[in-house]
Amino acid sequence: MGSKISFIYEELKWPEIREVVKEDRVVLLPTGSIEQHGHHLPVGTDSALVTEVCRRTAERIPDEVLLMPTVTYGYDPHHMDFPGNMSIEGVTFLRYVRDILVGLAHHGFKRMLVVNGHGSNMPYVDAAARQAIIDTGGKVMCAAVSYFHTARFIEKAKKVRESGTGGMSHAGEAEASLYLAMRPELVDMSKAVDFRGAPDIPDNFKKELIPPANRSRIAFAPYFSSTTENGTYGAASLGTKEKGEQLFEAAIEGLIEVIRDMRKYPMRERVDHH
Ligand SMILES: [Zn+2]
Repeated sequence: MGSKISFIYEELKWPEIREVVKEDRVVLLPTGSIEQHGHHLPVGTDSALVTEVCRRTAERIPDEVLLMPTVTYGYDPHHMDFPGNMSIEGVTFLRYVRDILVGLAHHGFKRMLVVNGHGSNMPYVDAAARQAIIDTGGKVMCAAVSYFHTARFIEKAKKVRESGTGGMSHAGEAEASLYLAMRPELVDMSKAVDFRGAPDIPDNFKKELIPPANRSRIAFAPYFSSTTENGTYGAASLGTKEKGEQLFEAAIEGLIEVIRDMRKYPMRERVDHH
């Protein structure tokens, strides 16, 4: 017998929220961006995809999660050379996400997962999750993961991809596929071009959603307009609906695994050894 309370946080009345706290569900907080995605994908791609991944995940395990409204804007000042791009200053974004997590803790929630859909948000959502633990004296478990960095997603991406290294970066094979599987009418594949990094960019500094094992993980975000002409970095033309469906499924399964591990995580009190 499942819970009678819906997983859609914003549709609950406050007495229902008081009740659902007792179920010890994992609260999902999606974070995205309003960011240029080349000539073929909408500027809302990251937010739309992470929202869809989280909603489909929650529908699969409705009694185990609560789904928060998406933090739609993210951190991407390095894309501001392209019209339409919006960026929230990094520390503001960090504090905003931290405030949501601490607010949830205030109401009694114990397990919160930031599900990120935009690469450059990651340092900030990581910091926000860490900070929320400290700011609540260790009373809660807050973690952050990008939906494209779960073990399941990485494994599936390696299987479905036709592109080589660099093909699954920004607006490339993976994102084009996912969007085609979600709302194909908004993807203009006639404008999808492939760009995998100029030949004079050393391998360690080429972009890739799923970095190969032989690459160093280096934090480096130059102005995007200095690395690509049209805003795409990846093999956009290789995007297909079929790959997108497989990647959606992997994203959902990957998140379910993380959520179930979070539910099992033993919450222990901190010990001050002074
Ligand atoms: Zn993206």
